[in-house]
Amino acid sequence: MIDLRSDTVTKPTDAMRKASYEAEVGDDVYGEDPTVNKLEEKAAEILGKEAALFVTSGTQGNQIAVLTHCQPGNEIILEANAHIFLYEGAAISAFAGVQPRTIVGERGAMDPEKVESAIRTEDVHFPETGLICLENTHNKAGGAVLPLEYMKKIYQIAQSHNVPVHLDGARLFNASAATNIPVREFAAYTDTVQFCLSKGLGAPVGSIIAGSKEFIHQARKWRKRLGGGLRQAGVIAAPGLVALEEMTERLAKDHEHAKMLAEGLENIDGIIIENKVETNIVLVNVEGTPYHSESFVEMLKQEGILSGSFGPHTIRFVTHFDVSREEIKKTIEIIQKLVG
Ligand SMILES: *Cc1c(COP(=O)(O)O)cnc(C)c1O
Repeated sequence: MIDLRSDTVTKPTDAMRKASYEAEVGDDVYGEDPTVNKLEEKAAEILGKEAALFVTSGTQGNQIAVLTHCQPGNEIILEANAHIFLYEGAAISAFAGVQPRTIVGERGAMDPEKVESAIRTEDVHFPETGLICLENTHNKAGGAVLPLEYMKKIYQIAQSHNVPVHLDGARLFNASAATNIPVREFAAYTDTVQFCLSKGLGAPVGSIIAGSKEFIHQARKWRKRLGGGLRQAGVIAAPGLVALEEMTERLAKDHEHAKMLAEGLENIDGIIIENKVETNIVLVNVEGTPYHSESFVEMLKQEGILSGSFGPHTIRFVTHFDVSREEIKKTIEIIQKLVG
C-alpha cells in the first residue's frame, strides 16, 4: 500500500524504537522523568520560549492552550477552516466554554483588518476576546504557509489590544522547511505554540506546547485535569527527541515529492490541483472526471493507494518519509491509467 492519507501514518524509525528502549524514565507527574524533561527543554529552546510541555496530541495541546488563555464566556478569533474549529469536536465550547468567531481566510490567512475589527470593545453586551488562533501550515488550505510578515502583523494587532496569540503549528516544521526560516522566528510572533511530533516528524505519540513559564505552569494543571498527567512517559518522549534531532531537515524531501505529485497529476485530463503546493499536502479536484471524491478514493484503494476525501470533489494526498520517490511516480502512473 502507498499510504498518502496523512503524515500521521508514519511509523517510528529504528532510532526512535531504540531510544524508547534505552530511555531513562521516572514519574513525570512528580517532574521526575529525565527524558520528558529533556524533550521539554529542547523544544522550548528550539522555539525560543521559556518553557514547554509534552502533551498527548495536537488536539490536547490546542485545547490546553485555549483553556489556559481564556475564561468561560470569552470569544476566540480563528480562521473559518481552522483545525481547532473544524476538527476538535467543538472542544473549545464543550470544555473551555468559549465561542468561536470565525473569519474566512485566503490560503489560511485572515485579513488583518478583519481580525482587528473582530476584536471586541468593552460593552455590557459583548463577550471579551480571549485569544486569536493562527494555523501554520494551514491544513485545510492545503499546507499553506502563513508568511512571517503576516504573523508579525497579526501579533502586533493582538498586542495593541492585549489579546494573546496561539499558533496551531501542528506542521510548523514544514513551514520552516519550506521557507528556510527557523521555527523560533515564527514562534516569536506568538504567545504560545503547539506543534506535533507525531506527523511529519515521525514520532509515534505526542505534541509540544510552549510559552512563558507562568503559562506552562497553568497549562500543566489543565493537562492533569484532562487526564493527561503521564507517568514513565520517557518511553514516548524519547522518540520525540529523535524527531527533533533527526527528522526536521528531511521534511524538504516530502515537499519535493508533493510538488512532483502535483506536477504529474495536473497534466491529466479532468484533474485540477486546487492548492499552490508549498509543503507536503496536495489537494486534487476530480470534478472533471466521472467520479466524486469518495468513489475516487475507493478506486485508488483497489489499486493500492490510500488517500483521503476532503470535500465532494476534493482528495487530499499527504507526503511523508514512509513514501518514496518511486511510489510517487507509481501513484501518478496509476491515476493516469485510471482517468487519463
Ligand atoms: C493534526 C492536526 C492537529 C491535531 O493533532 P492530533 O495529534 O491529531 O490531535 C491540530 N491542528 C492541525 C492543523 C492538524 O493538522
